[in-house]
Amino acid sequence: MKITETNNPFRGIWIFGDYRNYFQNRVTLQLIAKGKELAKKLNTEVTVLALGDHIHQYAMEYAAHGADVVMVVDHPILKSYQVETYTRLVAKIVEGYRPEIFLAGAISFGREFFPRLAKRLLTGLSADCMDLDVDPKNGLLLQTTPAFGGELLAEVVTPNHRPQMATVHPNIFEELPHNYGATARIIYPEVEIQLDERVQLVRSRPEQSRRAHLEDAAVVIVGGRGIGSEKHFQIIFELAELLGGEVGATRPVIKAGWTEEDRLLGQTGKTVKPKLLITVGTSGALQYTTGIQGAETIIAINRDPHAPIFKMADLGLVGDARSILALLVEKLRKRL
Ligand SMILES: Cc1cc2nc3c(=O)[nH]c(=O)nc-3n(C[C@H](O)[C@H](O)[C@H](O)COP(=O)(O)OP(=O)(O)OC[C@H]3O[C@@H](n4cnc5c(N)ncnc54)[C@H](O)[C@@H]3O)c2cc1C
Repeated sequence: MKITETNNPFRGIWIFGDYRNYFQNRVTLQLIAKGKELAKKLNTEVTVLALGDHIHQYAMEYAAHGADVVMVVDHPILKSYQVETYTRLVAKIVEGYRPEIFLAGAISFGREFFPRLAKRLLTGLSADCMDLDVDPKNGLLLQTTPAFGGELLAEVVTPNHRPQMATVHPNIFEELPHNYGATARIIYPEVEIQLDERVQLVRSRPEQSRRAHLEDAAVVIVGGRGIGSEKHFQIIFELAELLGGEVGATRPVIKAGWTEEDRLLGQTGKTVKPKLLITVGTSGALQYTTGIQGAETIIAINRDPHAPIFKMADLGLVGDARSILALLVEKLRKRL
């Protein structure tokens, strides 16, 4: 059925409340801020849907960050995320309330859960969006996402199915400041909560590896394929340590196993917004630069003066990465 302004029963912008790792993972708050902007254009409200056990403090946080409505499903069964249970439950709620737009962060959680949900709701999903807007002509959600292997940024619309669903990269939008005086309506939807027993959580434990905290780092040093080898990649860590920063990497580096996977930046990795980013031996492919475009100052080091990375760099150094880094590390060591 073609959805028109007169026969449209769908209303409101929904955001899936992902509160795990709340202080580092701010994507839900960033989506509330963007959702408010879109809601103004559509003359509607922003609702955050949160599932879990004893999660009222998060409902308060979402209200303080601008949500008009927080929908809470609070039950011991929902204490740990289980994709089948969550999908079935959220699909039922969505079918009952009929939101027009439904957004989630493009982090591991949203990347697993949202495609399943879209399939169950028989609607479309744009993954890894870099921007969102509303088409002033028809009110459709414009979902800007990398397409054709990241060669292009495509504007996707979902004209005939609802909700219009998208996952959005973290750190693209700014969260609104915390407002203690803000209020929101809290709704507890009546819904049957059933555990899907095909998959059961036996045990969970925090990852022990050298965790990267890239999203909130003020300084990020990125190494690309041009560094040459795992052994030489260690100088990226040395420089990061001297500057009090974090280490990021491009996809070939991750594929070669020179560093951990959670350091990948770009379309399929993380998005960073540091004050200073030094990118070394990276060519500047769009799939990578989408992850670093929010950096305040970018310094690029590459031996090829025509490398595309120089187009977005504030300062470019043409030369051999290893020699330049060795010199830099030596000078910094002397100064400290
Ligand atoms: C669907 C899809 C998704 C993707 N997602 C991502 C993503 O999320 N993140 C990502 O990073 N990539 C992603 N890619 C891969 C991306 O297209 C590029 O291939 C990748 O970013 C290139 O990494 P690089 O710049 O390290 O390597 P290269 O492109 O090989 O560049 C190496 C650079 O190092 C320079 N160099 C070589 N030796 C030296 C030296 N001694 N000193 C100084 N400079 C030197 C070279 O001049 C060159 O510019 C994706 C690709 C696809 C198809």
